[in-house]
Amino acid sequence: MRPPQPASSPFPMHVSVEEARAMLAALLPPLDTETVPLAEAAGRLLAADLPALVSHPSATESALDGIAARAADTLEASPETPVRLRVVGESRAGAAFAGMVGPGECVRIYTGAPLPPGADAICPVEQLTDEGEALTWLSRPASLADVRHEGGDFRTGEVVLRAGLPLTAPQLALAAALGHAAVPVRRRLRVALLSTGDEVVPPGQPLAPGQVYDSNSVGLSALLLECGCEVLALGRAPDSPEALQAAVDRAGGADVLLSSGGVSMGKYDFMRDLLLDRGRVAFWKVRMRPGGPAILGGWNGLPVFGLPGNPVSSLVVFQVIVRPALTGQPPQTLRLRAATSFRALPDKTAFWRGVIENGVVRDYGQQGSGVLRSLSEAGALVIVPEGQPVNAGDDVEVMLL
Ligand code: AMP
Ligand code: MG
Repeated sequence: MRPPQPASSPFPMHVSVEEARAMLAALLPPLDTETVPLAEAAGRLLAADLPALVSHPSATESALDGIAARAADTLEASPETPVRLRVVGESRAGAAFAGMVGPGECVRIYTGAPLPPGADAICPVEQLTDEGEALTWLSRPASLADVRHEGGDFRTGEVVLRAGLPLTAPQLALAAALGHAAVPVRRRLRVALLSTGDEVVPPGQPLAPGQVYDSNSVGLSALLLECGCEVLALGRAPDSPEALQAAVDRAGGADVLLSSGGVSMGKYDFMRDLLLDRGRVAFWKVRMRPGGPAILGGWNGLPVFGLPGNPVSSLVVFQVIVRPALTGQPPQTLRLRAATSFRALPDKTAFWRGVIENGVVRDYGQQGSGVLRSLSEAGALVIVPEGQPVNAGDDVEVMLL
């Protein structure tokens, strides 16, 4: 249900979360591609599909330490009727056995070593009675399952990593295994970051009455780095139209400005006024809680996204709207059983803070957006669609914080 839109509004108000994401993404410039060594690619976004340059495993090999033999020779093996095989050599990682395994023969083999011709099965070392260099006893049949087949993981030419993926440890390790020393990544988006508010001061100095530490600059900056962005820190602008405009003008050269604070209905919410009165507005307010008053617009050709000042709200808006818009990836969610109920709002998607414990998610309890410790303690956002309350025992969509 969409709240009534003022007839006079020249821009959309109360947009959905999906609309907000798409509108922000549409204002971001396309990013060129650059190629960087893997060691410098952490946190970047992959710019092209990445094919395997080699197959893995490169040859059919053993998954464990033991002996390689002909399965047909070992079918009768049991503790009562062990089978005796003659050891004819060794295959280790990097040094294959040169010969062929014949009937009644085996070779000692180690994890990652090529399976010698003739052999098609492995018996783990734990299952052997080793009689030294010549003979070995099997108390159960050698297994075909402990063989890793050539190309069973990936084959040369197969696309294994897809364009758009954020490169974190698993993807980087895989890129190396595919044979790439450097990868094409998108140029970093330059994001100017501004906190607003007379009361907001940098941490590390005493707080005067009424002041609050600037946690948004720190939290949002860390999130932007995670998304592969370059952060242009503009610091803090006090609550005056002139000072705010001067700060925004310092964002020249950035691709987009992300601000926090000053976007609600209050007299001192000058970021809203700047865009409404003298800039451009793409939308104001999103049908979500927390974070509803967010505003998207532009100032002298620079896209500006104004997040609410509240640290909980700004974090949630970032995760729900900004991250997917920056990365082009939908938010990662999981389905979990709800251990408690979660209330629905009639005209907004709710992102309630939740705690995941023993595979279920429960209400964090204090859902006020001023509860800052929840940023660290909750760990998850439970997504409750408009008008669809969640009962204990239902399955819910959850985003990790
Ligand atoms: P605002 O959106 O400007 O009305 O601010 C809402 C609440 O968030 C107020 O309690 C502010 O003091 C607080 N706040 C605004 N900006 C920040 C910031 N950068 N860091 C921490 N708290 C902030
Ligand atoms: Mg403020």
